[in-house]
Formats: sequence, structure tokens, C-alpha cells
Amino acid sequence: MTKVFTIASGKGGTGKTMTTANLGTALALLGKRTIILDADIGMANLGLVLGLEKSKITLHEVLAGKADISQAIYELPTGLKVVPSGISLQGFQNADPDRLQFVMSKLVTGAEYILIDAPAGISKDGVIPLAIADEVLLVVNPELSSLADAVKIKVLTEMVGGAVGGIILNRASAEKTMLTSQKIGQIMGVEVIEVIPEDASVRRAAAFKTPVVVMYPDSPASKAFKRLAARIAGAK
Ligand code: ADP
Ligand code: MG
Repeated sequence: MTKVFTIASGKGGTGKTMTTANLGTALALLGKRTIILDADIGMANLGLVLGLEKSKITLHEVLAGKADISQAIYELPTGLKVVPSGISLQGFQNADPDRLQFVMSKLVTGAEYILIDAPAGISKDGVIPLAIADEVLLVVNPELSSLADAVKIKVLTEMVGGAVGGIILNRASAEKTMLTSQKIGQIMGVEVIEVIPEDASVRRAAAFKTPVVVMYPDSPASKAFKRLAARIAGAK
């Protein structure tokens, strides 16, 4: 059985793309057949952080009905399979988010895990990934604005018949003004399943278009991503 996770947040810039890339890589390194898909079709950058930005056929072409999903899957040396989205505005305009569900039904045959990198916001292309996942994982930062947006996504997920599986608290630091993991869990009414620390290695690795779990496997953020992957793989 394939398990589909949507990595969502509401607010932009919380770390959805980094989490999708690194959790996906960590699952692949555990030997799990894993596909990650960039459903942020308007502001796509999953391909960019993994060095796949020159891919000719992307989810844009698939959602426009111009290509088959099998043509838009790219395999990295880690074994991770990636479905990037295109970066052109035209491509975004031609893509029909309603086709995503059909695309997913074809993808599930090839993977144990599928991670969907969701867009920020609550427009149609953002809502469909919430509805089609087995579990939505909310990436939040330890700030009230991030929590307020995540609450909206939780409510929206439940409205469309989806389920929130947990919170990933990203960019955590020891600063006193920051909300604690326990407080966040209480406010949201959802378990915090992993805490990813603020870690400059994440950005450094991204500059080399490489996941931090590959480039700096012993960095604090990498350890957290690998712990989360082991938790997910162990739960199966
Ligand atoms: P989103 O996809 O939610 O918009 P990104 O994954 O693109 O967010 O991350 C936004 C920015 O934050 C990027 O520059 C990324 O490198 C940085 N970032 C994400 N997580 C961390 C972290 N744990 N430590 C340091 N920087 C991070
Ligand atoms: Mg993103």
C-alpha cells in the first residue's frame, strides 16, 4: 500500500519544500520507494532545490494533458523519484489542478511513499492536495502568524475530508520569544511529530542543489529529518 503525505502550511516560507526534499531523500536512503511531487504549480521550486530545474516535461505538461505522468518522473542518485513542476507562468496557466487526483491514481502503483509539496494559501491548487492525502503534515515555524495559518489549513483539511497526521515544527531555536513545541501542540490540538532546528546547513546545501541529508548528514537538521523518516517508515 502506498502512503500519501501532503506537506502543507498555509503560510509561505515555513519550509515545506525543504521538508519534502529532505524527508523524501531520507526515506529513499532507508530503501523505501519514494516519489515527491511539486504541487506548488504557481511558485514551483522543488525541482530547483534538487537540480532538476531544466526538466523539459514537468507536472505542468501533465496537468495540461500534454504528457503522461511517467514522462515527468526523474530519478536522483539516492533513488528518490521526483516530479517537478515547471517555472513558467504560461505553464502554470495551462495546468489544470483538477487533473491531480487522476495523476495520483497512476503514481501510487510505483511507490511506498508519496510526498506532495503543497503551495501556500487556500486556492484550488492548494486544497486538492489536502483532500487526496492519507495524512497532511503541517510545517509550522515557532511564531503565532505561522500557527494562525496552520489552524486554517487544519480546518480546511477536515472540511474536504482529509486528515492532519501531525505537525513538523521547523526552524526551532532556543530563543525565549519562540513558542515551544508543547505549546504549539496544545494550541493546534495536533501532535508535534518532529522538531527541525534552525540550521544554516539547510540553506548551504540548497545552494548546491543538494538535500542537506546528503551534503551534511550529521548536521542537526539532517538528524531530525532522518528521525522523522525512520518514524514514518517504522509506522508502516
Ligand atoms: P516553503 O516551501 O514553505 O515556502 P522553503 O522550504 O522554500 O519554504 O524554505 C524557505 C526558506 O527557509 C529557504 O531559504 C530555506 O533554505 C530556509 N529554511 C527552511 N528550513 C530551514 C531550517 N531548518 N534552517 C534554516 N533555514 C531553513
Ligand atoms: Mg515551497
